[in-house]
Amino acid sequence: MKRLCLTAALAFFTAAVGAQQQYPNRNISMIVPFAAGGPTDTVARVLAQAMGKPLAQTVIVENRPSAGGILGPEQVKNAKPDGYTILIHHIGMATTPTLYRKLRYDPLNDFEYIGLINEVPMTIVAKPQMQAKNLQEFLEYIKKNKDKVTYANAGIGAASHLCGMLFMSAIQTDILTVPYKGTGPAMNDLLGGQVDFMCDQTTSTTSQIKAGKVKVYGITAPKRVESLPEVPTLQEQGLKGADVAIWHGLYAPKGTPKPALDKLVSAMQEALKDENVRKRFSELGAVTFPADKQTPQALQAHLKAEIEKWAPLIKKAGQYAD
Ligand code: ASP
Repeated sequence: MKRLCLTAALAFFTAAVGAQQQYPNRNISMIVPFAAGGPTDTVARVLAQAMGKPLAQTVIVENRPSAGGILGPEQVKNAKPDGYTILIHHIGMATTPTLYRKLRYDPLNDFEYIGLINEVPMTIVAKPQMQAKNLQEFLEYIKKNKDKVTYANAGIGAASHLCGMLFMSAIQTDILTVPYKGTGPAMNDLLGGQVDFMCDQTTSTTSQIKAGKVKVYGITAPKRVESLPEVPTLQEQGLKGADVAIWHGLYAPKGTPKPALDKLVSAMQEALKDENVRKRFSELGAVTFPADKQTPQALQAHLKAEIEKWAPLIKKAGQYAD
């Protein structure tokens, strides 16, 4: 009897270890909380493809778009913590806890951390028909037309929302906001002239700027971006207080087993060393975090610091959602 129990326990143990050792033995889903074709989606697709190599499995990008990007994290929080569902998200993980009175996930307690990916500046871009030739003329246009100008964003909690909030406060003007489920669809409307302007990551705007399809009025960074050397910063044109860098991180549901997490961490680190990834990110104005930041500990610390950084600014702006 004793021997039978021992054999059964051993078989169970071997099977459990085997299952973990085999991880991953099927596709992994990377959830993107915004629409396809936008900047978060772009970063996700570059990373997912490269992570597939070290994991020897396909990492499938799944869009779970919603205004503010708040449904993706909730979906991942509630997913089975088995290493087969992960989340890519940006600075919104740090701003939504203050922006939303009722948030159905807690960025600091509901997730395991994989690591920091990259940082991306934003650009103020306007519809092709906009006549203003530079930021000064654009600001004059806004002042004269403040009742009819429209600003596109990806909802409260999006990077474009944060940038818009800072921009409006810097120019002391409230502008009518049109929310989308991601700036991919917002860009389509901007190109079609249905909305006047937006602030979006260079990972999405670079190709449109280079092709001359949108008007560009500045970069939200203290220094110009190498991939867009002709675009001045907002600061050098005299506008202070609207700078913001959008950082991306990778998460898994709380309780994901350590062996699976370790594989995800090293796959992300491998992917970020990949020549194609580095080339693509730099073409899009994204700066990969240094190796010591591509870790669970660094993401957790950064997230906490960013929540603390943005909370007073958001409270001061008086922006809340339910
Ligand atoms: N750029 C968007 C934002 O404003 C999100 C996206 O569509 O990727 O957060």
